[in-house]
Amino acid sequence: MEQVYKRLIQELGYDQIRTNEPMSNHINWRVGGPADLYFEPRNSRELIEVVQTAIRLKIPYTVLGLGANVLVSDKGIRGLVIVNKSSEVKFLPFGFVEADSGVSNAVLIKLTVDRRLTGLERLVRVPGSLGGAIFMNAGDTAKQAFIGELVRSVRVVEPTGIVKTLLPQDCDFGYRHSRFQTSGEVIVSAKLQFIEAARIEIEEKVRDILDRKRNQPLGSTAGSTFRNPPGNYAGKLIDESGLKGKQVGGAKISEKHANFIINTGKATATDIRELITLAKEKVKERTGIELQEEIRYLGEF
Ligand SMILES: Cc1cc2nc3c(=O)[nH]c(=O)nc-3n(C[C@H](O)[C@H](O)[C@H](O)COP(=O)(O)OP(=O)(O)OC[C@H]3O[C@@H](n4cnc5c(N)ncnc54)[C@H](O)[C@@H]3O)c2cc1C
Repeated sequence: MEQVYKRLIQELGYDQIRTNEPMSNHINWRVGGPADLYFEPRNSRELIEVVQTAIRLKIPYTVLGLGANVLVSDKGIRGLVIVNKSSEVKFLPFGFVEADSGVSNAVLIKLTVDRRLTGLERLVRVPGSLGGAIFMNAGDTAKQAFIGELVRSVRVVEPTGIVKTLLPQDCDFGYRHSRFQTSGEVIVSAKLQFIEAARIEIEEKVRDILDRKRNQPLGSTAGSTFRNPPGNYAGKLIDESGLKGKQVGGAKISEKHANFIINTGKATATDIRELITLAKEKVKERTGIELQEEIRYLGEF
């Protein structure tokens, strides 16, 4: 084992760090090789500490939430993988909520809906953590309702190790886009703002989104594999290219929704990657449109 890895283990505690942890246990697609080092911070203090330690020791690090939007290479991930389990949520006056980035969308939706705060319904059946949602600016594409609109500030660790707070205008939120996709900052926590609404109104919004999500398959997937190109739908383009149900190894383009790739049980990351490449080639050949991945690749492909 690399000397610098041993130092990280010494500094953070032998009982905290796992080595050669299979990433297939931590991402929704259930594929991917091992992380050299693996750590689960349980609160924002531990998250900041582990990131700052990795920076100081010059160990590459990757922060993940629920792994619902990533494809990890069969060769795994070098350096340290941090799977964020921080989960504190504070309710403040005037509809403000301050939450750790590791809290899951499902928990945050439940907590806010219980207090009749509306806004987070846009993340119903979007598996993930608050950090992953802000990183992706996740939300309800049909309604153009994204998490960025609720964000009032974001606390981050910079790649230098400095902790700072950003305002929404700094975050560059767009369709499946935020500054965090290029800044290298780790999202520690965020302040969101909600408005109050009648329970019946919130329940109606939840029902509407659940209805529309009925055409999406369940199982081991990362949701939409590709972004929708302007004025079009990736799923429709893949379907029209005759690829619904197409299988490579254990990976299959869903018959229910062609933008979803399913691990039928024994898929590898290589199978999924091959299917992605095939979809891109066929759509480009037929329409000239270059599909762009929404999912993020981690490790070497
Ligand atoms: C069945 C299904 C349905 C889906 N439906 C939708 C949908 O309707 N709308 C939608 O927008 N998305 C959808 N998705 C995609 C996915 O749920 C979202 O992108 C979600 O926000 C990912 O969150 P996560 O915590 O799992 O992120 P991860 O997959 O863990 O990470 C995604 C990226 O964010 C980075 N990241 C995560 N946490 C942090 C942090 N704290 N600091 C810095 N970077 C971080 C990671 O490094 C990675 O690059 C769906 C996925 C599935 C499986």
